[in-house]
Amino acid sequence: MDIARDAFVDGKWIATTERFPVHDPFDGSTIAEVADSDDALIDRAIEAASRAFEGWRKRPGPERGKLLRKLADTMLAEEDRLAALCTRENGKALKESVAEVRYAASFLSWFGGEAERIYGETIPATHTGQRLVAIREPVGPCAVITPWNFPYAMLTRKLGAALAAGCTVVAKPAEETPLGTLALAEIAERCGLPAGVFNVVPSSDGARTGGRLLASPSIKKISFTGSTEVGRIIMKNAAEDLKRVSLELGGNAPFVVLSDADLDAAVAGAIVAKFRNTGQTCVAANRFIVEQTIAETFTQKLLAAVGKLVTGRGSDDGVDLGPLINDDAVAKVTRLFDDAIEKGAKLLAGARPTSRLVPPIVLTDITPAMQLWHEEIFGPLVAIRTALNETDAIIQANDTEFGLIAYVFTRDGARQARVAEALEAGMVGVNEGLVSTAQAPFGGIKHSGVGREGSRHGIEDYTQLKYIATRI
Ligand code: NAP
Repeated sequence: MDIARDAFVDGKWIATTERFPVHDPFDGSTIAEVADSDDALIDRAIEAASRAFEGWRKRPGPERGKLLRKLADTMLAEEDRLAALCTRENGKALKESVAEVRYAASFLSWFGGEAERIYGETIPATHTGQRLVAIREPVGPCAVITPWNFPYAMLTRKLGAALAAGCTVVAKPAEETPLGTLALAEIAERCGLPAGVFNVVPSSDGARTGGRLLASPSIKKISFTGSTEVGRIIMKNAAEDLKRVSLELGGNAPFVVLSDADLDAAVAGAIVAKFRNTGQTCVAANRFIVEQTIAETFTQKLLAAVGKLVTGRGSDDGVDLGPLINDDAVAKVTRLFDDAIEKGAKLLAGARPTSRLVPPIVLTDITPAMQLWHEEIFGPLVAIRTALNETDAIIQANDTEFGLIAYVFTRDGARQARVAEALEAGMVGVNEGLVSTAQAPFGGIKHSGVGREGSRHGIEDYTQLKYIATRI
């Protein structure tokens, strides 16, 4: 497989002396040695993004949009190669990698359209002979820091919006998965994106690289997707220079099943919401809260569906769940499993993890005393607790510092509206286990983040309003 491994700065591929290995999560083998960007290279990338900004922002929106759609089309034309690379560095099942390439490309094409619609406002004047308008301008060069769980999509949600708005980008991908980002840089180069508009500085030291990007006065905005812990550090550091910040952070999603739910639909939703990317998604159902009258039936149906899921190497035919990303991820799931069992959880399926390949685990009799009630599991472990009624289910669902997404299954229209409004989350899936799409606002409240990605709101974060009063 032909893989880009160097840093991409100012339209050039830069080979560095320091390199870091990227591993296949399935067997730990080394896939590539990637450039480890030092401070001087990061500074070069920032300078390139600053220089390129003046030209890029002046290009007409439709021209920027056309280039974005070309990037999207090229991604789709090469989806087999890109998907195979994603499965290689991330481990996820190949069919999920294909879905991710399509999902990631959709942000580029959708924001490509939005580049033609960055409207301002005409405001009624106070006096005769005056014209008041507000226009939207790009904020400037942006730093983009992404996690390993969706190497393409987490990048394009930011890159599409930034480039459409007229901003330039310096991207720092996760240490585990820099190859997908470099593959997109290579596509951008082929599609004729001007030098310096999109730069990639892979690094094995997120704190140092993030610190360097945040310290630069040339970087006007930082967009970060990752853990709440690192999000807090970024927000603190961004305060120094009053940089604009978008944060897409961790979740602890409740998955509420009410007594009148279509249980087959709830199980189908649960499988998607829990097991996509082997449970390693920010929107993963973390706590199943099931009304007690239907808990037994729901659990039996879920066990039957879970029993059909195949765990294995992501590139093998028929595999649903690839390996966890690394040994730290296994250790986390094992800690949460041990703690829950010690505190009285009942094991209905699966077993204590012994390797990165973790077949689905189902635990019931969950209580708030258990660590997994409060922490993101990030693995294929279903944790079920019963609720007395709708009110109890809502109280339980909101018993978390996070607020990214919540799911509720009920057939009753009034309940759908009532519960969706009562759930403390930036997004709610009603009878729906997968809500993310380019044209809708994705993002959280509480400790799950600041700002939205996707939709017209996602591009607003890369623009600033300028009010112009003219005497005519
Ligand atoms: P992470 O450890 O926070 O890392 C995310 C990125 O931040 C990586 O590129 C990392 O670089 C970098 N980084 C680490 N320390 C940094 C620092 N001090 N300053 C600046 N950057 C720093 O998160 P992860 O383990 O990769 O991803 C999993 C987390 O992401 C989960 O909590 C998940 O819920 C969240 N997530 C949220 C969303 C959302 O949309 N809300 C989507 C996907 C994932 P290195 O790799 O070099 O350390």
